[in-house]
Amino acid sequence: MKNPRQKQALATLLIVLTLTLSAAAQTSPTSAQARTPPANELGRFLVLEYHLIQEQETRWGRSVPNFKQDLERLYQTGYRPVAMADIINGKIDLPAGTKPVLLTFDDSSPGQFRYLVKNGKREIDPDCAVGLLLSFHRQHPDWANKAVFFVLPEAKQPHKLFGQPEYEAEKLKELVALGFEIGSHTLWHANLGKYDDTTVQKQLAQSVEAIQKRIPGYAVRSLALPFGVYPKDLQLAVKGEFKGTAYQHEAILMVAGGAAQSPFSSGCDLLHLPRIQVPGPDLKYWLSYYEKHPGEVFVSDGKTETVTFPKALQPRFNAAKFKKLQAVSY
Ligand SMILES: [Zn+2]
Repeated sequence: MKNPRQKQALATLLIVLTLTLSAAAQTSPTSAQARTPPANELGRFLVLEYHLIQEQETRWGRSVPNFKQDLERLYQTGYRPVAMADIINGKIDLPAGTKPVLLTFDDSSPGQFRYLVKNGKREIDPDCAVGLLLSFHRQHPDWANKAVFFVLPEAKQPHKLFGQPEYEAEKLKELVALGFEIGSHTLWHANLGKYDDTTVQKQLAQSVEAIQKRIPGYAVRSLALPFGVYPKDLQLAVKGEFKGTAYQHEAILMVAGGAAQSPFSSGCDLLHLPRIQVPGPDLKYWLSYYEKHPGEVFVSDGKTETVTFPKALQPRFNAAKFKKLQAVSY
């Protein structure tokens, strides 16, 4: 038999082994995914706001490695992308237990969508945002190609429709064909608070016109406000007309403000939709916040015809707007 020293060594080894195994179980993504968190479709969701996607991390630029890490971290913690249209329509079609995240990209820079031409053949740069999203989708088929690009049709280069003049129309069409959406960001990043009503309408109508010239019939449903500034008359950000071209934005996105209210909540104001800027500390803050407060984040019930939430949240449900959906409380 073993002497006492050997027994003690064995006991120590067992303790270390147990601790290691339990630590591994706590951090393993498979064990996290095995528990389906209870549905709460009145919880908040994240709208992320990206600008440049580039080599270096800067105030307005997310580096390629950090962007990949954002996607990986979102995926591993149970977030899945939704479209702007899903939020506007109140149709969150995600697996039970997952959480919606809306990815938005402002200012149409080449790092968001760049073509590389090799031997006369055009391909999407694997290191631009679109290339990175497509590759992430290939690795994780349950991460859909969903994101909104708020574009500038008349900005100075390199911000005019992603900076490659010969491919403007192709890029817009390809984005839509891939499943992504296009939103308005005015013609050239105009501060709408500075202009008269006619100029505001001209900026917004001609922006829609420029997008539709390249994708006939495309419905531009959302507007990201340059600098987060509303026009003096909010209604002109929502709808208006200039020289025969009308526009209507069902969602208007701000430049900051934290996590957004569920589209099913009476507190949701789609005309003042808050966003979380990346880079910066905010994304990390909100991800950790909802890891610590899982009851406050939007968690899907896996069905589009029901809205599921804890009984205590009943008063928050916007029953008047979502008459066709069945409310399920528990
Ligand atoms: Zn912008």
